[in-house]
Amino acid sequence: MSNETIWVGTPFILNFEDQRQFFISLEEQGHEVIIDDCPAYLSEDELVEKIKNATAVIAGAEPYTNKVMENTPNLKIIARAGVGVNNIDIPSATKNNIVVTNAEGQNSSSVSEHFFGLLINSTRRIHWMNENIRKGAWREIQPALVPLKNQTLGIIGFGNIGKLVAKRAKAFEMNVIAYDIVQDQEAAEQIGVKFVSLDELAKEADFVTCHVPLTPDTKHIVNKELLEKMKPEAFVFNTSRGPVFNLDEVTEALKNKVIQGAGIDVYPDEPPDYSHPIFTMENAVLTPHMGGRGIDAVRNTINHAVTCVDDFLKGKKPSTVINKEMYDN
Ligand code: NAD
Repeated sequence: MSNETIWVGTPFILNFEDQRQFFISLEEQGHEVIIDDCPAYLSEDELVEKIKNATAVIAGAEPYTNKVMENTPNLKIIARAGVGVNNIDIPSATKNNIVVTNAEGQNSSSVSEHFFGLLINSTRRIHWMNENIRKGAWREIQPALVPLKNQTLGIIGFGNIGKLVAKRAKAFEMNVIAYDIVQDQEAAEQIGVKFVSLDELAKEADFVTCHVPLTPDTKHIVNKELLEKMKPEAFVFNTSRGPVFNLDEVTEALKNKVIQGAGIDVYPDEPPDYSHPIFTMENAVLTPHMGGRGIDAVRNTINHAVTCVDDFLKGKKPSTVINKEMYDN
């Protein structure tokens, strides 16, 4: 295919002054690349308007719903410049003959580092001390700083990110346990991780961190029932997708000291409802869905999405197709 229109929403490439650098190879082949300076969260109608002439999109968090895909007959490929594809209705994409790809593994390192940012901020109370020292408070209140060494980290979802988190935790001399519906025993043995049930993980872990995709099974996997099984000293972390936590129940648990603290990067709605009580909790460390935004990760995910589009337009199967049935004969 040549002279196709490729639409790119810009929010995820704003860090780069020269945004066109990523798309030169596509433009040199005669394709038109539209870099759209649009907000991260568009309505369905706004999205249809923007992509109705596009053959390919390099996707951020926009809502690729059934309604959108039914109204964009030119669209042939959605290349997500990220890992989670919960903003794309995959069965509808297949029905509408649209290939969906993601950037598997391209931002895992960034998310794993972000998790440690949240973890160490929580245990060493860095954000809190940073605020207080600027007000002239020199150890007037001495917070108890929680160690990582010899503590148990429980990983829900031992995939690309979960494995990197486990490796890094070992450098802190932590014990690592994991729960996953698919058990990669070889990696677990290599890193030194023990698979346990979800219940065991909740009971044993000092820190619980979620690295699962959002699916009907993972929605609210961290809920009141699971939180009540945890130690009162436990911390919970979510850098996966907002609905993996039942945020109301996590907030209640933080209020009632059922657990000690939380670190959260992702929210049930994004941008979130800022009137939610989580935003008043002193024992929560909160970031605005930045886990995957390491500058290297952003570059890698865009380059990967461009390669997927390029391969597709040349009639080749992209390397990370989500709806694999599109290539079944
Ligand atoms: P991955 O596919 O490599 O790993 C996910 C793991 O979760 C797999 O091992 C899978 O078997 C497991 N899993 C699936 N359903 C499960 C269930 N019901 N119970 C237990 N385990 C289950 O994905 P990844 O690259 O590690 O990314 C994980 C998620 O992190 C992504 O889906 C995405 O939503 C999120 N993410 C967030 C950011 C961010 O900016 N915060 C960036 C990248 C990815």
